[in-house]
Amino acid sequence: MTPNTGRRIAVLLPYPFPGPFDYLVPDDMDPKPGDVVVVPLNRREVVGVVWDTPADGSVATAKLKTIISVVDTPAMREPLRRFVDWIAAYTLSPPGEVMAMALRVVATAHPKPVIEYARAHPLPEARLTPARRAVLDVLAKQEPMQAHALLSKAQVGAAVLRGMADAGLLTTRLTFPEPFGKPDPSHTDPALSEAQQAVAEILTEGVDSKSFSVTLLDGVTGSGKTEVYLEAVSACLKTGRQSLVILPEIALSAQWVDRFRRRFGTDPAIWHSDLPSRTRKMTWQAVAEGRAPVVVGARSALFLPFPDLGLVVVDEEHETAFKQQDGVVYNARDMAIVRARLCACPAILVSATPSLETVMNVEAGRYHHVRLPNRHGGASLPSIALIDLREHPPERGRFLAPPTIEAIRETLGRGEQAMLFLNRRGYAPLTLCRACGHRMQCPNCSAWLVEHRTRGQLLCHHCGHTIPIPPECPSCNAKHSLTPIGPGIERITEEAAILFPEARRLIMASDTITGPQAAAAAAHAIEAREVDLVIGTQLVAKGWHFPHLTFVGVVDADLGLNGGDLRAAERTVQLLHQVAGRAGRAEASGRVMLQTFIPDHPVMQALLHGDLDTFMAREAEARREGDWPPFGRLAALIVSADTALLADAVARDLGVAAPRGDGIVVLGPAPAPLALLRGRHRRRLLLKVRRDMAVQPILRQWLSNVRIPNSVRVDVDVDPISFL
Ligand code: ADP
Ligand code: ZN
Repeated sequence: MTPNTGRRIAVLLPYPFPGPFDYLVPDDMDPKPGDVVVVPLNRREVVGVVWDTPADGSVATAKLKTIISVVDTPAMREPLRRFVDWIAAYTLSPPGEVMAMALRVVATAHPKPVIEYARAHPLPEARLTPARRAVLDVLAKQEPMQAHALLSKAQVGAAVLRGMADAGLLTTRLTFPEPFGKPDPSHTDPALSEAQQAVAEILTEGVDSKSFSVTLLDGVTGSGKTEVYLEAVSACLKTGRQSLVILPEIALSAQWVDRFRRRFGTDPAIWHSDLPSRTRKMTWQAVAEGRAPVVVGARSALFLPFPDLGLVVVDEEHETAFKQQDGVVYNARDMAIVRARLCACPAILVSATPSLETVMNVEAGRYHHVRLPNRHGGASLPSIALIDLREHPPERGRFLAPPTIEAIRETLGRGEQAMLFLNRRGYAPLTLCRACGHRMQCPNCSAWLVEHRTRGQLLCHHCGHTIPIPPECPSCNAKHSLTPIGPGIERITEEAAILFPEARRLIMASDTITGPQAAAAAAHAIEAREVDLVIGTQLVAKGWHFPHLTFVGVVDADLGLNGGDLRAAERTVQLLHQVAGRAGRAEASGRVMLQTFIPDHPVMQALLHGDLDTFMAREAEARREGDWPPFGRLAALIVSADTALLADAVARDLGVAAPRGDGIVVLGPAPAPLALLRGRHRRRLLLKVRRDMAVQPILRQWLSNVRIPNSVRVDVDVDPISFL
């Protein structure tokens, strides 16, 4: 080992330690903050990042280990390091665990540039053999091409290309083989409406100012929000800085990528967890080296090493899918704003149904607000009807009300497409024994097993536990007594098959749409009118644009209102409004029917009258009264243990040690709604504080006062959105 002079440096390792560790720097090495280094840890060699924190000095120099090497890969830049620190502090997560999300890919193999050939303009005087002519013919119709593709297309040998380049017939340039291209801001020039143009200009100015701001882009479904924010992306391309667009379900967003390609002539860089590892590495490296001008990705794209980020867009900002629930619990919508601030660039939040948090930030003047009030091209918003299930009950054992059935018939009769929406996978959410009343329950969770008939299984949607559908009741052994209770989309599909046998049906749920290919295939089949009736879960609520779809039926509009969730009403309005927004996006007008038992409920009335503003104002009042978010701050503690006894004991201790004081309220401990999850017993406590107070110091103090045995976990969820 190289001798060293005792210089020490802090290295953050991608593990849940409380902070960086000190290491010694060998004399012949000069690692800087952000450098990726290999260091020894418990007789292993691990990769870490040199951190800016001063070395802590508490360990004697003699006991310190020495850095082994600096990895030849782009360093983690300052804004990304500050981002990691920020999230760790905000979510009370170990910084190494947050940093691990940025270090998940370390590309060390430098990509080799390849030569591309293009036709020279104008062509110089030179001898044109048939082989040379073949090459020029191919290039006349093509973008610049790499040698191997060009050779096979023109059916010539490599010497021909060399000769042509020498003769000045071909020009050459170096590029990197990458799974995306160079978007051209002027590939097409969309003819924006006046309203769109005005909004696009405001967003473009934000990009050109190269400073931090947050703008809510709010407009009805189909108003051209995507079209308009792509103008901001275009402006960012022109400044030479990078853009990041985050979507809740990028893996399923084939239509978005098509859209991008039409606008900019090529694919954006795509980032999500299902990418093949080679593509991941290439993309990561390209982002780090500034060669990926636009990245569209899932929330994990926030941790990409952008050297020069100029714009962050969060599409469907209201989506709860932006909240990561495992590991580091963070909300990508909120963290996107933090990332933008640290990179001094604008953030644009996009939604037809903005979250109450965002609306309140607009009202408080923290965010700018731009609106597109009308659907593009004169398309009208769909007409909405409430179907009162007490007045129009479905037939026994069925779930579609007569008016819904009638409307689907009419729609299909006109040769248009219809959609049925039910946010529940499988055949039936509950299986009951008619003889003894036994309910089929998950042994590991406080949850019913959901029948998935096509698979012949009962499945727990929380832990994945499966059993074959039993032939008899496991409790009383009665045969043929197990009965499905309530519908899932498989059951609705069965009903639709009986009612509309001629209609070509397509199920869109996570069980059938398993990845990008399946999603693209489904979208293309619907666009090409190879499908008459789409039956889907919340997957169909995403930003799809199906011009021939004119009817949407919501099987159970009340579904999301059950349970004590703080945002149940808000979320139901958003989801159903999005689903409704799939209808009538082109010339033919759309109709939506919501089947409900509670037509007078404010949620149903807001949807019926398309008056989300009034609904949100009422919602805001209700939350303001109770100091609930966004008028107060919340954090949840979830205690989990192998035994109920242990979970109760720790939850009780936390309750006893609960913080007190003006503006602080602690609710619980109480059994979590999922009191048993994956075999672990769960208890919850909720900390609610005034908005002008921070929850983090209170939580830190609180947790430090309670001894938590190793076998018990206490998970912290700052700004919880799930109360299970
Ligand atoms: P949103 O994102 O608000 O739902 P989109 O941007 O998807 O709306 O626009 C809805 C449809 O209208 C899309 O097919 C889009 O291509 C089209 N569209 C929107 N604005 C224009 C425009 N100015 N010119 C042509 N087509 C447009
Ligand atoms: Zn389970």
